[in-house]
This record gives sequence, structure tokens and C-alpha cells, in this order.
Amino acid sequence: MARHQDSCEICQRIEACRRGTHPGLVAELDTGYVVLGDSQHWPGYALLLARHPVTELHELPAAVRARHLADVALLAEAVGRACAPHKLNVESLGNLVHHLHWHVFPRRADEPDPRAPVWGQMPQGAAAEAARLDARRHAGLKRALAEALDALAGPGSEQALDRRRVATGAWMALRERGAGPVVLLVHGFPLTGALWEPVARRLVDAGHRVLAPDLRGFGQSRGDPAQTLATHADDLVALLDALAIEGPVAWVGFSMGGYVALEAWRRHRGRVGALALVDTQAGADDEKGRAGREALARRVEAEGSVVVADAMLPRLFGPAAPPDLAEEWRGRMRAADPAAVAAALRAMGARPDSRGDLPGIAVPVTVVVGAEDRITPPALARAMAGAIPGALLREVPGAGHMAPVEQPQAVAEALLEGLARPRP
Ligand SMILES: [Zn+2]
Repeated sequence: MARHQDSCEICQRIEACRRGTHPGLVAELDTGYVVLGDSQHWPGYALLLARHPVTELHELPAAVRARHLADVALLAEAVGRACAPHKLNVESLGNLVHHLHWHVFPRRADEPDPRAPVWGQMPQGAAAEAARLDARRHAGLKRALAEALDALAGPGSEQALDRRRVATGAWMALRERGAGPVVLLVHGFPLTGALWEPVARRLVDAGHRVLAPDLRGFGQSRGDPAQTLATHADDLVALLDALAIEGPVAWVGFSMGGYVALEAWRRHRGRVGALALVDTQAGADDEKGRAGREALARRVEAEGSVVVADAMLPRLFGPAAPPDLAEEWRGRMRAADPAAVAAALRAMGARPDSRGDLPGIAVPVTVVVGAEDRITPPALARAMAGAIPGALLREVPGAGHMAPVEQPQAVAEALLEGLARPRP
């Protein structure tokens, strides 16, 4: 049977997608990348390139296979929405390139022969040249397809998550996938575990079991508002208990999630096998900072979570971040429950100074910071890493505070590098 080729055109395309240099890139799905086809003779013709470099569908790991087929169906539905075709053709052939990929063709009723297979009808010569994918000319088509994918499966449409009641009384919503050593991803304020999606995929690919819960009161998790950050750490340990995960796991905390991870180190040391502190800090708020949080909490209670979105967004992303990323996150921040947001502001204001704990941290620690982070700047990350014995410090170029969504590949690489290290 055919084998995956060493010099593989699909692998090269996926690499270009990851670098952002693929002219036809539309979206990254759970199990692969969506690109517009090199020929747009059928406008909207798109491919799904499988993330796993297998040759045949049945070679995908069983847990991935069903999700991959769901992605194929999702892409077909999105092409259907974006292009309103007479009929969709969905094909996986791979006779030339032995890396699983799917073609989705929107067929039109007014074609010369709408009943014939596509491959005999591919234009040749000048007609082929005229139909070639052009990033500028087909930008509208890319956008329409991306929007259709987003409407069907994007962040705003996140399907109901598995939610379980844990011993602390909270209902914890969880994104869980992959197999291998456990990595617990703790989101920041006022966000949800969806923050970690692009990083989580890469950790799963590298052989980890990844847990990305929503903290109590955020996203789809429920519970009385947490008065202190210790409550969040306790919730997460209770969640590990509920999942029968008994040994130490890697805790990755972003921003407020970093404060929670440090609480976990103080309160549940036996459950912390490694720490990664991403765009966060160890110090406490000063008097002015605390007062500012209290004032913001009161405004949130009066006016809703939109005031937090407006207060944070101007400083959240680096200068290189595309504007639509900020818009996407504005929508998510506005949707946060005001009671949880106000409680978290007060809990952050009251958080203890963790700097005294740093020299005693006896597990591998990775400190990651966006080089353009204006909320917890690199100087704070350097100071924190410098105080922890053997800590690995990685600064991510081209990223602001939201490094996990601005530069997920670089953040995932830094985390994987840190997770691979032995105990100091
Ligand atoms: Zn390949």
C-alpha cells in the first residue's frame, strides 16, 4: 500500500499555514487546515488537509477519526453556506500525494455537465491560468468561507461542554482531549478555556492529554462567585479528583491563571508536577492598583462586563495583532457574567504577594511572555524567572499580553520545551 512520502506537498502546505504564508488559508480546524484550492474554476473549492500525516482515513487514531470526519462534514456545510451550490462533491483521493486530504467542490447546475466528476473537467492552458487562486482576488471568498465556518463552529457557537459538579460545589465545564501526560491549562481574566484552543491542539499533537476548563463563573462553568483566587485552585484540584487524576500534573496559567497556578503550588503542592507561568507576574497589587480594581468592579456591577472589555482591549494585544482578533475577544469579554467578573477583580486585588514563594518552587518552571506585553511586561517575567531556581524563560516575539492567541505556535513550543525538562 502507498506510504506517506518524505517530501510531502501536503506537509509543506500545512507548514505554510502554520507560518501564515499559505495564500489560500481559510481556517484551522481541530483536525486539520482549510485552504482554498489552487484552482478556483469552481469558486469556493476548498480542501481540508489532515493534521496527522497518515495516508488513509482508517490510519488516524480512533479518537481523532470521528472528529476528523466531523470536520469534513463541517467544511462541506460551510462551503454550502458560502457558495449556495447545486450539489457538493466531497472527495478523498490522494493518488499523487499520500497524505490524507479532502476536496470539497461546490457544483453548479449551469455547468456544461453537472453530473460528470470534476477531475475530467479541470480547465487546461489559459483557462487554468485564469482560474488560479489569487489571494487578493479571492479574499472575499476566503472571508465568506471563514465566516460560514465560524457561524457553524466558531467561538461564539461553542457547543455545550461536558460539565461536572466537583467537591467544592462548582459546576466545571471542561474541554478535554488527547492522551498522555496531563497538562492543565488555566485561562485568564475575564476569558474562558477557549483561550487555549490553538495552543491545546499543538500540545495534543505532541502527545499530551490537555484539560482546558472554564473557571467558576466564567464561560460555561457555574458556582458562587469566587471570593479569592484560592477558590479557583481548589476547584481545579477537585476537578482533577473528579477525573480520577491523582498524581502531579503540569499547570499552565495565563495572566490571572498564573495567580491561580501559584495558589495551587501553595495549597496543593503534591498535585503540581510542573508550572508554566504565561504573561503573568508574582507580585501583588499596590494600593493604587487595588483601588483601581475596586472601582472597575463597581462599574461592572452597574454597567456590565463591557466596561472591562473597553478598559483592557487597548493594551491586550501587541501592535502586530490583526484588528479582528481584538474584535473577537471583545465579544467574548462582553459576554462574561458581571458577578464573576466583579468577584475576580476583587480577588485579584486581594491576591497575596507570591515573590517569597518563588525560590522554593521545586518543580520545572517555564516563564513565557509576549515581547510586547504591556500588561505584565517582560521585565516582570524576567524578574520572576530569575527568582525561581532553574526556571526557563522564553520571550515570544510579535506578541502582546495575549501571546497564546497571538503566537500559539511559539507559546506551545516554549511550553513543550519546558515540559520536557526534568525536575531541577
Ligand atoms: Zn505529509
